[in-house]
Amino acid sequence: MQCKEIKNMAVPSSSFTLIHKKFRCRRMAKQVCEDKDLPDINTLGSFQSVPLEIFHMILGCMPVRDISIFSMTSRTISSHITTYIYSPSGILRLLVQDFHNSGLEDGRQNISILEHYKYLGLLLKRCTLLLSTKKRLNYTHKLLSQVPCFKLGGCASPMKCVGLSCYGLFLQVLTAGWDEMECHRVYNTICNVTNLPRKVQSLVSGTPGSSCKQELYVRLFCRNVLLDHWVRCKDTVFWLTRLLKPWPLVHQARLLYILFGPVSTTDGYILWKNMTQSVVDEKSLEGLATTIKLLYETDVKGWTADDVISLVEELTVVPNEWLLENNARFLILTGNSICFSMLARKAVKGRRMDLARVMVFLALVCQKDLYCMEWAVNMMRRVSKFFSTNEERKCFLGHVEMSFACTVTDMLQSVLVAEERDEEDVNFRNLFHLLKAQANFHKEILYLTLTPSV
Ligand SMILES: [Zn+2]
Repeated sequence: MQCKEIKNMAVPSSSFTLIHKKFRCRRMAKQVCEDKDLPDINTLGSFQSVPLEIFHMILGCMPVRDISIFSMTSRTISSHITTYIYSPSGILRLLVQDFHNSGLEDGRQNISILEHYKYLGLLLKRCTLLLSTKKRLNYTHKLLSQVPCFKLGGCASPMKCVGLSCYGLFLQVLTAGWDEMECHRVYNTICNVTNLPRKVQSLVSGTPGSSCKQELYVRLFCRNVLLDHWVRCKDTVFWLTRLLKPWPLVHQARLLYILFGPVSTTDGYILWKNMTQSVVDEKSLEGLATTIKLLYETDVKGWTADDVISLVEELTVVPNEWLLENNARFLILTGNSICFSMLARKAVKGRRMDLARVMVFLALVCQKDLYCMEWAVNMMRRVSKFFSTNEERKCFLGHVEMSFACTVTDMLQSVLVAEERDEEDVNFRNLFHLLKAQANFHKEILYLTLTPSV
C-alpha cells in the first residue's frame, strides 16, 4: 500500500532534499554520526540521486529483516538507515506498541510482534556494528526508552502485556556473540536505567508480600527481559548470576523465590504462604527446582556445588520453614545429586531425626507422585553410609521407623479433628497414601535383604 502511495505521488523533485545535501545538515550530524562516522557520498551507489524523503519511503515499504540486510551494504547506507530509524516515521513504524494484542503487518508479511522485535534487534545490531559498545547501548536506550511497556513497572496491565518479552528478544539478538565484559555493560546500563538493584534491595529486605505489585514488576522484568529467552544454559546462568551474586545468601534465596516461586494465576502476585501452609503440586515447585538444577549443573564461575546446596537450604525456609512434603517434593525435582547432597549434609551434621523425617516424606512423595520406591530406599542406604559407626546407623534407621509411626499418628489425629467433610476426606487420603508408602518402602527393604544376590 505504501509502495502504491509512492508511485502515485506527483510531487516535484525540488521539494525533496537529495541525500548528499541532506547528510551535511544539522539533524544528520546530531542524530546519526559523530565526526568520523560521516557517510561517504560515493558509497551510496544508485541511491545517490534519491531524495532522503523518498529513501525513507522505500525503507518504510521494506520488511525490517530486509532493512537490516540492506544496512550491511555500506557504511553510508547504514548511516542513512540509522537516520530513518530515529526519524518520526521510522519510530512510528518500528516501535510497534500493540503489546496487548497479537500479530501485525510488516510489509507484506503478517508476523508476530515478538518476531518484529527480534528483527529490530538485528537491525540495530547491524546498524551499530562499527560503534563502541557504549555508543551502541546509548543508541539502543535512546530508541527503547520511548516505549512505556519496556520500563520496569511501566505497563498498566502487565499480565496481558508481551512488551517485556519483546524487549528480551530484542536484547537477545542484539547481544548475541558479545563477550562477558560487553554483557556486563549491558547489565549495568539496564540497572542504571531501571534502578533495579535498589528495587530488589527493598524487596529482599522488606516483609514478603508487603509490596506485592513491586514484586510482580521485578519478577516480570527479570524473567522476560534478562532470563527467559536464552538458548544456552550458560547465558541464563550468566544473567542470573548478575542478579543474585551481589546479595548475601539469605537475600539470594528471597530473590530466587520472587523470580521463580509460585504465583497466583489471577493477579500474578507471589504466593508466599503456599510452601508453609499447604501441600503444593510439582507445578508450583518446578520453576525453583529447574533454576537450582541449572545453577548446579552449569559449569560457570561464581557457583560451586556447595554454594548451590547452601542456597537450597536457605530457600526451603523462605519465608519460613516449608512443610516437609513440599520440601521432599522439591528435593526430588532437583534431581539425584542435589537431593543426595542435601541429605548427606544433614547426616554429616548429625541431624539424624531431621534426616529420618525427610526420608519418610520422600517415601510419601514417591508414593503420591508415582516415583519408584526403590529410589527412596537406595537414597537411604547411600546416606546411612555417612554415619561412621554401626550404632549411629542403627540409631538413624530406628529414627526412620519412629518417624513413620509419628507421622501416621499425626495424620490420624488430623482426620479425627477435621471439622468439615472435605478436610476430613483430604486428610484421610493423605493417611492412606502414607500407609501405602510405608508398606512399599518396607517391601523394597525386604526385597533387598531377603532376595539372594546373584
Ligand atoms: Zn503493556
